[in-house]
Amino acid sequence: MPELYIDGRWTAAVDGRTREIRCPADGSLVAIVDEAGPKDAAAAIAAARDAFDRGPWPRTPAAERGRLLQRVADLLERDKSDLARAESLDTGKRLVESEYDLDDIANCFRYFGDLAAGSEAGRVIETGRPGTDSRVVHEPVGVCSLITPWNYPLLQTAWKVAPALAAGNTFVLKPSELTPHTAIALMRLLREAGLPGGAGNLLLGAGPAVGTPLTGDERVDLVSFTGGVATGRAIMAAAAPTVKKIALELGGKNPNIVFADADFETAVDHALMAVFLHSGQVCSAGARLLVQQELHDALVDEIVARARRIPLGGPFDGHARTGPLISAAHREKVEAYVAAGLEEGAVLRCGGKRPDDPALSKGYYYLPTVLDDCVPGMSVVRDESFGPVLTVERFRDEDEALALANDTMYGLAAGVFTQDAGRARRVASGLRAGTVWINDFHPYVPQAEWGGMKQSGIGRELGPAGLAEYQEAKHIWWNTSPQPQRWFE
Ligand code: NDP
Repeated sequence: MPELYIDGRWTAAVDGRTREIRCPADGSLVAIVDEAGPKDAAAAIAAARDAFDRGPWPRTPAAERGRLLQRVADLLERDKSDLARAESLDTGKRLVESEYDLDDIANCFRYFGDLAAGSEAGRVIETGRPGTDSRVVHEPVGVCSLITPWNYPLLQTAWKVAPALAAGNTFVLKPSELTPHTAIALMRLLREAGLPGGAGNLLLGAGPAVGTPLTGDERVDLVSFTGGVATGRAIMAAAAPTVKKIALELGGKNPNIVFADADFETAVDHALMAVFLHSGQVCSAGARLLVQQELHDALVDEIVARARRIPLGGPFDGHARTGPLISAAHREKVEAYVAAGLEEGAVLRCGGKRPDDPALSKGYYYLPTVLDDCVPGMSVVRDESFGPVLTVERFRDEDEALALANDTMYGLAAGVFTQDAGRARRVASGLRAGTVWINDFHPYVPQAEWGGMKQSGIGRELGPAGLAEYQEAKHIWWNTSPQPQRWFE
């Protein structure tokens, strides 16, 4: 069956192109999928435009839209094991992590289903003028281009598709060319749940060929993108001539601050999880460890000892605790950052190379790596390496910790470990980041907004603001006792 989904039909690419999808854990062929080009993109945008302007979805009562999202959540739960397997084959991620993601994905659809159901009434304004009826209502923005990356393919898709549909928009989805399978599966589930043809469209293909029309076409009203900051800048520029609404989630270089009074075991455990989960391919990875001077040696020694013992392996290796990087090119990028860090004076404490195990030689594995004695300004400290690479900086006191933590163009997430409640509050308030964890790292819930300050992005996903991204506010003023005003008499 062809894999592009346009105007309610499964279709092959107009020019017949296809792409091989390979599992990053061993390079094996997962499938060959259709590869869209500009003509397919134009057809998908036209279908979404027509479905918005004339189709039933934007005019469907909000409660009914909410019910459809709940049905999608039921179907995601029904197909959880197949979807998790597909996600793991595309990404190389451990199966158990894909299964956790699937739970979060179903919860995301449920959350926005509930929010949609309760969102129609609008807000009545007390104008202070008799004979008026003033109301602010929320309407869908229109046609949305949803562009997602390869690290959490279905999760990041859900964060966009669920609120876009909850608000009554139509969309064209473009997942990363490397990880298309769960997006294909989601379109099947949306169809099964009853989404009308044209309201949701799927393009598989490369960023330049397909992403460019999705961000420049005047029939598109909003672009929501998750990925790298360079691509985010290109998307802003492409969207500017037609003044599209944009929502960008561009990752981070997230500090994890550990004070000397932190619970030692908790701090070690979370520092490892913060950076090595999914081999560091997490936008909120705690890749910069800031540790108070007096705790430095004990903390880093323990982190290094445990990092050396982290077993690597493929998605279905029950012994493995983390997996490969997404591609050979991405591993080379991570290797270049580590090499630059060493050149700039960092001290390699562990990792810094590919594993020797011949069983892993066909995958894109890279050992958990700790670089000590790092200082601001090093490229490995400044830029998102998006790999299993922890840089360590030392600080003396709270002020210096905050200054180091905020010395970044990013502002997505940050963690602070301390047993001093006053300090926890002060540091959380001083951090310029969209999410701050105290004595924890990584948790999120669909009810709470997610997104970045500074160059980590624009806008928020999840939470009420995540729905508002996909809505236009309209003020309707009704003069219920019309009289001439006689202004010009
Ligand atoms: P990109 O930002 O390039 O890719 C993300 C998505 O954008 C993909 O679907 C990609 O398509 C698409 N895309 C690429 N170019 C364009 C364009 N001109 N117009 C529209 N869409 C486009 O990520 P990379 O895979 O290249 O990774 C680069 C870096 O980005 C990583 O090393 C990491 O630092 C960061 N990153 C951050 C993520 C986050 O969660 N915030 C997620 C992934 C990466 P295509 O299919 O061609 O790749």
